[in-house]
Amino acid sequence: MRYWLTMPAAGSGRRFGASCPKQYAPLEGRSVIEWALSPFLRDSRCAGIVVALPPGDGEWPRVAARLSAAQPAAAGDARPAIIAVTGGEQRSQSVRLALEALAAQAAATDWVLVHDAARPCLAREDLDRLLEQLAAHPLGGLLATPAADTLKRSSAPLPDSGSPIAATVERAGLWRALTPQMFRYGRLCAALDAAHAAQRFPTDEAQALEWQGEQPLLVRGAASNLKITTGEDLVLAAAILRSRDHRSTQGAHMRTGSGFDVHAFGPGEFLMLGGMRIAHSRGVLAHSDGDVLLHALCDALLGAAGLGDIGQHFPDTDPRWRGADSRRFVTEVMRMLSERGLEVVNADLTVLAQSPKVSPHREAIRAGIASLLGVAEDCVSIKATTTEGLGFLGRGEGIAAQALVLLSERAAWPPRS
Ligand code: MG
Repeated sequence: MRYWLTMPAAGSGRRFGASCPKQYAPLEGRSVIEWALSPFLRDSRCAGIVVALPPGDGEWPRVAARLSAAQPAAAGDARPAIIAVTGGEQRSQSVRLALEALAAQAAATDWVLVHDAARPCLAREDLDRLLEQLAAHPLGGLLATPAADTLKRSSAPLPDSGSPIAATVERAGLWRALTPQMFRYGRLCAALDAAHAAQRFPTDEAQALEWQGEQPLLVRGAASNLKITTGEDLVLAAAILRSRDHRSTQGAHMRTGSGFDVHAFGPGEFLMLGGMRIAHSRGVLAHSDGDVLLHALCDALLGAAGLGDIGQHFPDTDPRWRGADSRRFVTEVMRMLSERGLEVVNADLTVLAQSPKVSPHREAIRAGIASLLGVAEDCVSIKATTTEGLGFLGRGEGIAAQALVLLSERAAWPPRS
């Protein structure tokens, strides 16, 4: 799964009544637009970002500098590049100009997401649900939330001054359109071009496709994904962001997993342990390189993420994994974790065997595994024990390993000081 993000931010925020456009309004130590971009900056599925700005935008360079100064959330994380373009008069024109900037890179069937610069509270779960529910859809859709209040139509255009009711609108089946909206690149470009050619300017992307007789999919999103329109919305957004930060510091987003693996000794002169080749009187019987320590580690990581076990992902019936370097399994598992916004806090690993001796290799194994996991060496512990001559391990028939890991959902970006 891969997608592009466009963010129309060229509106002047006329309804906001503040000194700066609403996307630059301060919010919890950052600006609204930084929060709006944050879920995408830490999503490895995001291939690139285009922001459409007002002509002569003086605020963006400061934001861009802060964004590029912030450290990636995890070692090896590739941040999607951000391109800034000048937007148009209308929102849909800004989106079209942002899409144009992707013309050389995006294929017609690529997914493109459009997210409002004034929506700072998009939850990771909502982004994941949108991507999952639309993955196989030919056209696309959008996050939306069912209308909860009874809806009234007023008879005058200025409700501030008090206005008589003209009608109560039937609420059943009414949804509020949120963002991100997500469409196939070629279809969205064509729909916007057709609308603009007819001098029509949709207020969201779905409408442009509806005008072509299409039926984009509504995907349920949280009402907390609010759009900043008034100063009151900023207070609400701050409370939502603070509640998430509180939740993560309380450990509600920690996950633990355990793994265990055994390999029988067989003919050979070495074995692989924690990615290191260690001379030994026997080798191990295995389809891959038989690295018990990395296999136990993979199982612990997969277990913590709720992703099953190593056998499901790298079956020993698959010729691709014959003699495979088990570090590839760890790298692949880490990629799966990263896609889900999970990172390793620490790993505690134990080798169970009469031989070989682990201690001469302990620090090298520790450094190698820390690097695979993208953590500091003091977050990895390598222990070894014999079984005092008892059982199959004690008889020297094989080698076993167990692993315990702790994962955390990646901290809200930008990192809180
Ligand atoms: Mg194994």
